[in-house]
Amino acid sequence: MPKDQQPDSQEMAWHALPLQGVLEHLEADEGGLSSETARQRLARHGPNRLTPARRRGALRRFLAQFHNILIYLLVAAACVTAALAHWVDTGVILGVVVINAIIGFVQEGRAERALDAIRDLLSPKAGVLRNERRTTLPAEELVPGDIVLLQPGDKVPADLRLLSVRNLHVEEAALTGESVPVAKQTEAVEEGSALGDRRSMAFSGTLVSSGHAKGVVVATGDATQIGRISALLGEVTTLETPLLVQMDRFGRWLSAAIVVLAGLLFTFGTLIRSYPPADMFLGAVGLAVAAIPEGLPAIITITLAVGVQAMARRQAIIRLLPAVETLGSVTVIYSDKTGTLTRNEMTVASVITTEASFDVGGSGYDPHGGFSVQHRPVAPEDTPILQEVARAGLLCNDASLEAVEGEWRLEGDPTEGALITLARKAGLEPALESEELPRTDAIPFESEHRFMATLHHDHAGHAFVLVKGAPERILAMCSRQRRTGEDEALDPDFWHRQADRIAANGQRILALAFGTAAPGEHELQFAEVETGLTLLGLVGMLDPPREEAIRSVTECRRAGIRVKMITGDHAATARAVGEQLGIGDGGTVLAGSAIDDLSPEELQHAAWEVDVFARVSPEHKLHLVEALQMGGQVAAMTGDGVNDAPALKRANVGIAMGQKGTEVAKEAAEMVLGDDNFASIAAAIREGRTVYDNIRKSILFILPTNGGEALTILAAILLGRELPITPVQILWVNMITAVTLGLSLAFEPTEPGVMRRPPRNPKEPILSGFLVFRIALVSVILVGGTFGLFLWERLQGASLPLAQTVAVNTLVAFEVFYLLNTRRIHDRLRSTDDLFGNRYVLYAVAAVIAFQLLFTYAPTLQHLFGTVAIGPTTWTRILSVAVTVFVLVEAEKAVRQRLGPG
Ligand code: ATP
Repeated sequence: MPKDQQPDSQEMAWHALPLQGVLEHLEADEGGLSSETARQRLARHGPNRLTPARRRGALRRFLAQFHNILIYLLVAAACVTAALAHWVDTGVILGVVVINAIIGFVQEGRAERALDAIRDLLSPKAGVLRNERRTTLPAEELVPGDIVLLQPGDKVPADLRLLSVRNLHVEEAALTGESVPVAKQTEAVEEGSALGDRRSMAFSGTLVSSGHAKGVVVATGDATQIGRISALLGEVTTLETPLLVQMDRFGRWLSAAIVVLAGLLFTFGTLIRSYPPADMFLGAVGLAVAAIPEGLPAIITITLAVGVQAMARRQAIIRLLPAVETLGSVTVIYSDKTGTLTRNEMTVASVITTEASFDVGGSGYDPHGGFSVQHRPVAPEDTPILQEVARAGLLCNDASLEAVEGEWRLEGDPTEGALITLARKAGLEPALESEELPRTDAIPFESEHRFMATLHHDHAGHAFVLVKGAPERILAMCSRQRRTGEDEALDPDFWHRQADRIAANGQRILALAFGTAAPGEHELQFAEVETGLTLLGLVGMLDPPREEAIRSVTECRRAGIRVKMITGDHAATARAVGEQLGIGDGGTVLAGSAIDDLSPEELQHAAWEVDVFARVSPEHKLHLVEALQMGGQVAAMTGDGVNDAPALKRANVGIAMGQKGTEVAKEAAEMVLGDDNFASIAAAIREGRTVYDNIRKSILFILPTNGGEALTILAAILLGRELPITPVQILWVNMITAVTLGLSLAFEPTEPGVMRRPPRNPKEPILSGFLVFRIALVSVILVGGTFGLFLWERLQGASLPLAQTVAVNTLVAFEVFYLLNTRRIHDRLRSTDDLFGNRYVLYAVAAVIAFQLLFTYAPTLQHLFGTVAIGPTTWTRILSVAVTVFVLVEAEKAVRQRLGPG
């Protein structure tokens, strides 16, 4: 329901109105709304968000829990027991069915809520003009009349009527199904045009594939076109991963096999052993119930959800659940440099002109700091060439710096922020300069062309162009160089030498140039800046590495993961920064242009051998990922720009930057970094490995429990003995251990050695030979102990209910001890932390003890389950037998460690 929209705003044909009419109608102007107006409109129109689709209702979700082959089996069993008038059995079986459904319902709800919360972390932002200034706001706060700025990679945040465009192309597949980007314009189109032909509009939810634009918001939230067709309600993360699918298939296969086995057992028992069919039926049901690991899928799901939450706390936001598993097997990380490995806090440290090489003092955006040449201070006012470089950097600039409570806050690109600070240090006042030389047009910076150009007019009617960008690019545009007095012919060698010199200190280099333009010129074309410019100078900026990134690079290395740096910067800068971070060790740096010349084999070799790649384009990123994957590697790749999307999609784990990343990159990625920080990738990998460990632990714990129970029943029937555990008792054991002991492993903290192991081979099945061996070993120990103690009690003259009570308690005690073993899959438990470090395990054990005491002593439960009270010596016997599993599994680990890996 579009709520609180102006009644006519839905009906308006905004696309057909002239610009002035649109602005008047919306009571807006090109400078943006004031905060106060925006606030009032927000109150009137509501937040710019789509009403979420209704989820399946709680009742339907609850009923869905019964849709499961095991439950059908149990219900059938309940009917048969009812027909035989075994009311207690019927009651218990139905009780179990309901409890199972409740547990599944609660856990599923929890997992879904966890994923919802994470989706909220990804809500998009929008570049807006408010109070005549550019700011970035959560897209939810947009109101009709807001002026929105679009750039490549943005997701259009609301329906916009375009006010100005520069080469704007929008991909509207979400709305029209058309995947070829549509060129946009500002001229009105015919009133009756179809959505796909409304070229004067940009619609909410569509993606800017190239170009820039300014538009006024005409509709928000449910009143937008996308809201009206109510498609695209956010990416819905499904609770499905390859592992879950694999486990599901395994579970179904196992269930079928068990049902067949139970059938055979029933036939064998009635025909050969002459058990009464009713008893035998219950025995067969008992076997089926015992053997099917019904709790496992829920435990895996919850383990994944717990892992996803843990990752979100570490700023790694999972968009697609399978990434959680893949992260654990990543062998190579390709990381961007600027902002991910470095802090993206740029400070100009050197300025090079034809006349001198200036060192610049100070740090950060604070404009305190002077200039010196070979340690001798110089006054900028007396050095016109220095001021000219600084002025060019200030005017050819889209950023703004503001002092808020003594701290300099940057809006825009840090590279440009650093140039504003440089200008202030050189004694220039930003507001005055842009007033004197107002900007009339601009070609914005894009990584593809590596420069930015602006057109200015002074008040005397002169027009000129300022350009800044990567030195190779700018040098190719220049024919002359600036010298006070008279300009001279360009000496490219001189500048290349200077660029190499400062880049070798890890400085990022920009060249600045100047050109004249015809006074009547009001639009800047590429062709105009391609030739005939005058080079003013170079600036070198420092961007310190992140301390935590240095530590994480070392951690990844130890974990058998290669970290490779990819940057748009100069090769010498890349090498020096790589060295500071411990990447590449100052060795070979491969430049993007060289990548183009490699044969596929050479590229595969280089993708693995080289650790630092410079002047790389998004296309190179794609080639590098493909080459690595061909060599069998599992690659993670970071990216932020619109053109990074193919590489992000192709990578095994595509990682987008949450802060400086575009929406397009985020949508192509499996994971988004909330803080753009490399350290968060390492943290996510650690969590990914933990999740996988915990899933393996759950399997390792649950399967022998089922195996032990099933074998106990099987052995009893085959040997023609009484059942040591009745079917309802088995249901009891499964129920209480699944909700307590099994679940506690989902919360296992990371094992200490997790980042000292090599990455997991993704082809390795989750049930490795080792796991199968451990499962078989423990199953046998459990059967031996449970059945053995049962027989012993009977031989000593104990009644059947007493011996059965002992058997159930033995089985549960085994599980408690074995749970402790399972906290470490391979390593022996050496410390109290190894034993008791997970408080959920302790809670679970305490709960199980309480349940078993009730089971043994509470009269109602005694009646329901046919148990009787047992004395302290019996308990001692049970515990002494049960502890053997602990001792034997620890001994197995010790032997395995002595024999070495493999
Ligand atoms: P990384 O891939 O490590 O994040 P990057 O994204 O910073 O590197 P680019 O932004 O593509 O790399 O920058 C490449 C080059 O373009 C820089 O070395 C610099 O010379 C130039 N450059 C960067 N930002 C601007 C800008 N705002 N205006 C003009 N030129 C720029």
